[in-house]
Amino acid sequence: MSEQSTHQKVALVTGANKGIGRGAAEQLAELGMTVFIGARDPRRGAEAAEALRAAGGDVHAVTLDVTDPATVGEAAQRIEERSGHLDVLINNAGITGSGQVSPQDAHDQIPSSVDLDMVRAVFETNVLGVIAVTNAMLPLLRRSSAPRIVNVSSHAGSLTLTSDPDGPFTALLPSAAYTPSKSALNALTVQYANELRKDGILVNAVAPGYVDTDSNNHTGFLTVAQGAAVLVRLATLGVDGPTAGFFSEEGPLPW
Ligand code: NAP
Repeated sequence: MSEQSTHQKVALVTGANKGIGRGAAEQLAELGMTVFIGARDPRRGAEAAEALRAAGGDVHAVTLDVTDPATVGEAAQRIEERSGHLDVLINNAGITGSGQVSPQDAHDQIPSSVDLDMVRAVFETNVLGVIAVTNAMLPLLRRSSAPRIVNVSSHAGSLTLTSDPDGPFTALLPSAAYTPSKSALNALTVQYANELRKDGILVNAVAPGYVDTDSNNHTGFLTVAQGAAVLVRLATLGVDGPTAGFFSEEGPLPW
């Protein structure tokens, strides 16, 4: 590995072939980072990487299904071979469990009638997948001088916001799958931050806001670039940046 490649900033964004993850990958590439686009479908990953390379970015696709340990391990190996280290991990891959229906409009997530297999699938991707990817990438992150981990959560994951009887969430349908998966991701963020604080690895959760993507059938009012901005901000924190925090683009959020 050359000295130049040691100092070149390297990022991995999971679920980056489209949506907010792709937007974050694009912005990190514009900042000059080498960006690995994690995609469970190699063709879709290659197409996204090709498009971002055409725009001038140093972007590469890596096959990564966060629920498939073999691809997680192979992705870490591929990044090690190509770059030798990792500075930024954005755990962005996520599913609603209800296809393209926004979780707060999804009748199949109502707690008293939810299908447990759907809950399992959502937690497998949104929570266990984050543990699998983070643990596989930690050896590479430990070789960075400023490692940052960003977990893509949601305002819906905030117990404070969702339990406020006067807040906007009471008007929405309750969810026993997506919403608690993001609360669990928030809890996980704090636990990783506590473990890794002594090593200088900053770990934070972010809420992108309601973004126009496939995951809500394009009902979101923010652009992908607007939604991705907070991911990139937390991925590029300075040495005195926060850890164990939860942020939207407007500022800190309550857990
Ligand atoms: P999206 O357009 O549906 O993109 C989701 C991405 O995750 C896709 O690339 C998808 O890959 C990937 N993915 C799903 N399961 C995966 C798996 N097992 N392994 C690897 N990749 C997987 O959704 P989005 O709106 O951009 O969502 C991105 C993140 O933001 C999610 O964590 C979501 O919960 C969060 N979020 C979104 C909003 C919003 O308003 N959009 C609000 C709050 C939080 P495929 O293309 O193969 O399906």
